[in-house]
Amino acid sequence: MNKDALPEIAAIVGKDSILTAKEDCMCYSYDATNQKFLPEAVAFPLTTQQIARIMDCANRHKIPVIPRGAGSGFVGGSLPVEGGIVLALTRMNRIVNIEPANLTATVEPGVVTGDFQQEVEKVGLFYPPDPASLKFSTMGGNAAVCAGGPRCVKYGVTKNYILGLEVVLPTGEIIRTGVQTLKGVAGYDLTSLFVGSEGTLGIITEIRVKLIPLPPAKKCMLAIFPRIDDATVTVSAIIQARITPSTLEFIDQAAIRCVEDYLKIGLPTDAEALLLIEVDGDTETITKQSEHIKEICLQQGAREVTIAHSKEEEEQLWKARRSISPALLRLNPHKINEDINVPISQIPEIVRRITKIAQKYQLINVNFGHAGDGNIHTNLMINKDNPEELKRADQAVREIFEATLERGGTISGEHGIGITKAPYLEMEIGAQNQAFMERIKNLLDPNRILNPGKLSLT
Ligand SMILES: Cc1cc2nc3c(=O)[nH]c(=O)nc-3n(C[C@H](O)[C@H](O)[C@H](O)COP(=O)(O)OP(=O)(O)OC[C@H]3O[C@@H](n4cnc5c(N)ncnc54)[C@H](O)[C@@H]3O)c2cc1C
Repeated sequence: MNKDALPEIAAIVGKDSILTAKEDCMCYSYDATNQKFLPEAVAFPLTTQQIARIMDCANRHKIPVIPRGAGSGFVGGSLPVEGGIVLALTRMNRIVNIEPANLTATVEPGVVTGDFQQEVEKVGLFYPPDPASLKFSTMGGNAAVCAGGPRCVKYGVTKNYILGLEVVLPTGEIIRTGVQTLKGVAGYDLTSLFVGSEGTLGIITEIRVKLIPLPPAKKCMLAIFPRIDDATVTVSAIIQARITPSTLEFIDQAAIRCVEDYLKIGLPTDAEALLLIEVDGDTETITKQSEHIKEICLQQGAREVTIAHSKEEEEQLWKARRSISPALLRLNPHKINEDINVPISQIPEIVRRITKIAQKYQLINVNFGHAGDGNIHTNLMINKDNPEELKRADQAVREIFEATLERGGTISGEHGIGITKAPYLEMEIGAQNQAFMERIKNLLDPNRILNPGKLSLT
């Protein structure tokens, strides 16, 4: 890195807001993929103006800059694969405003999503996007990957709630996109260009979101299925019954056993699958809907359906679902985690196909996810020190993606592409779209300094 750049950046943020010692930088060298790339420095800006000056400096010196929220991404998006400076946005964590009269709010990028949700719920409002990482992931990281979560089946993903952004471009210019209002169509939809761009086109420094009224009540239930096929068919059956649950989560036997081993909470380890289902709305409607869903589950082969009657019982049912990722990471920090998404009607078929592919390549496979919107998290529990097994896993991933695309799906429902899915992006979007993405990147980032090596951009 150019020697003049670091003192210049230290002068911008202040010497207490920059790390350069190797042991300090190590803490910002990894994400939830557990891959490690050491940055040369980590800066903690506090304002948009500071970020604009840092980008201007980095652009002049051609230094890679990597935006980072909580570093909880599953695809290596915040990793400094070509070295450079990590821009840690966690100190920009102010909720700028919550405006109940306008049903909007504005936040800085480092606000933790769960904290924001709690604040808006205090005034009877609701911000639905709920990645399972909501207790630590940030609004900026969620916007940059367009995070999803269990509630997306009813409420949609992060992009459905973003009205406008403030963004610092790789050249240091500051732009504001979108509107202050709940709708607006003036000019190109630049907000959508940045949401989901995985920190490769600009640094999101402020996010204006739409809020909705908080549903007055919800009901949560757990259905236990002796046969996995019956559980996946039930997902479609519920949707076809014209009920839209607020969550419809699928957990296979390997995931049940893994969580039980971790938490010891008496999960039915003999069951081949569980469905965790929640409905929300007014009390009368959700009572009817939960009874109807229970009936569908039992008709489709569930051996037991438990409806939670208190907040504690509800928490207990959710505990298993929320613990899957940590339980799997504890068992195998190097697991391969994919998040394919298929049309809902294709879920039974894709789950069968994934199981066959894993068997063909002799790999242990764990499936769970937001089945209500077709999003299955499939995890291959590989031994990273066995090159032969790694090769088999690569082949299995390619076949899983092929099977997904054949069924009209996508290789990533919510985690993004980052580095881990970069080799497969063109399979889905084609060479022409990939070349088009390169042209957009060149326009905004002529020196290719912002988050290089991601999204298969050259
Ligand atoms: C236990 C666990 C459960 C998870 N569950 C879900 C889930 O249910 N749904 C889901 O979608 N994801 C889930 N994830 C993945 C992850 O939490 C999400 O992708 C989350 O949105 C990442 O937020 P972050 O703040 O950690 O961002 P980071 O991981 O730090 O960054 C993610 C990407 O965004 C970029 N970025 C971060 N901040 C900015 C910014 N201000 N401006 C521009 N670019 C930026 C980074 O460069 C990187 O490319 C889970 C992860 C874990 C560990």
